[in-house]
Amino acid sequence: MTRAFYFFLTFVLFYHIAGHTHSDKPMVLLLSFDGFRWDYLLKHNLTNFNSIKKNGTHAEYMINSFSTVTFPNHWTLVTGLYEESHGIIQNIMYDPVLNKTFNLGMPETYTKEWFGQNKLTEPIWATNQKAGNGRYSAAEWLGSNLEFSGQNITTAKNPINFGAIYFDEPDHYGHLYGPDSKEIAEKLQELDGDLGYLLDQLKSHHLFDKVNLIITSDHGMDSISEKTVIFLEDYIDDNLYDAYGSRACYSIFVKDATNIELVYQKFKAIKNIDVYKKDEIPESLRYKYNVRIGDMILVSHLGYAMYLKKIPIDWTLTNGDHGYYNNETSMFPIFLAHGPAFKKSYKSRVFNNVDLYPLMCFILGVQPAYNNGTLENVIDMLVFKVANQNIQQNFIFVLLLLIPAVLVGMTGMFVCFTIKNSPKGTVMTEYGYDTISNCEDGEIEGVNNDQSRLIA
Ligand SMILES: [Zn+2]
Ligand SMILES: [Zn+2]
Repeated sequence: MTRAFYFFLTFVLFYHIAGHTHSDKPMVLLLSFDGFRWDYLLKHNLTNFNSIKKNGTHAEYMINSFSTVTFPNHWTLVTGLYEESHGIIQNIMYDPVLNKTFNLGMPETYTKEWFGQNKLTEPIWATNQKAGNGRYSAAEWLGSNLEFSGQNITTAKNPINFGAIYFDEPDHYGHLYGPDSKEIAEKLQELDGDLGYLLDQLKSHHLFDKVNLIITSDHGMDSISEKTVIFLEDYIDDNLYDAYGSRACYSIFVKDATNIELVYQKFKAIKNIDVYKKDEIPESLRYKYNVRIGDMILVSHLGYAMYLKKIPIDWTLTNGDHGYYNNETSMFPIFLAHGPAFKKSYKSRVFNNVDLYPLMCFILGVQPAYNNGTLENVIDMLVFKVANQNIQQNFIFVLLLLIPAVLVGMTGMFVCFTIKNSPKGTVMTEYGYDTISNCEDGEIEGVNNDQSRLIA
């Protein structure tokens, strides 16, 4: 039994212990299958994934954030922040302010100074629990060991209304055998069985139609091989710089600033990689304004793999990778959802993974923290009637009242409203949700997106 399933059983146990009841709040269960490429669903017959796709809401794929690797995208999924905004920019990274190195292989580095670089960061489990009134969260997720906004995930025997579970496959098999291998096909069938078990558990505990289940991933997978390897030391003296990242994307810190141009030109001469000085990085990547992004970045073209040194590689077990540009289709992850908040048999438009955070806040009925997501991109998939139109009508009505009032010089007339703070997505649903606001990219009061960026 995997650790994730142990956690899931704990999730079920919570409400059992609490007197065979479950939370009366809206419930969300978020699942991430690491490295689950969107078109695995088209190429493999995965009965349980397909049943969610058929009966619930799905998008053809979701667009993840650059760089398309595990820690950065998992932190984006639960915070709604781009990597440059939350600061987890690679699985291995250097912070010149902290003068420390983060490494996914070293759990002792999973600390607040890394995950909470931006003080506005608030993962969804903290947002939910902070709202109080009987809301509790549990999560087995990257960063879920840390306290945010005074909230730790619950360890008490309370029924939770938010849960998040991370599965480490099919990523591992994708790396070993590649995305088109028979081994990945077998692994996907195994995961489909695991999902079936989870769905059966939800059904047998009368939770399946009450829980809003979201199934997604952090990135896809592409093939690499001996023919597409690039050993950087063949082209440049590796004593000139330090590199942090993965085979598809590195953040480069040049040791002596007077060598920046030299290092840049050496990298520029290498085929099948792109090099950008920090100020050249395209804004569209949302991967620039952070001290953890060095003097320049390297991005290899799809299917190419950069190694710093010429090391021996076992190519029988090195056949897949990710981390490439997030507009490459093989990097796209899946998105499926099922539950009372989601439309049935509905295909949503494609959206960004930063939009998931405001979506989950909306379903949970809690006020989102600062984020880069846009609720409007995903609201269509929900069954709720959104009263945006009414808000606009009310706004026009108030304006019509104000204009003549000013014209005739009337004083002492105060209209009690605050346009700036008025909710963009007031809802009255069959859930009886509270009125909540949509915190769009750069629209939270007093904080615009540029201010939230950590300028290097
Ligand atoms: Zn991953
Ligand atoms: Zn991976």
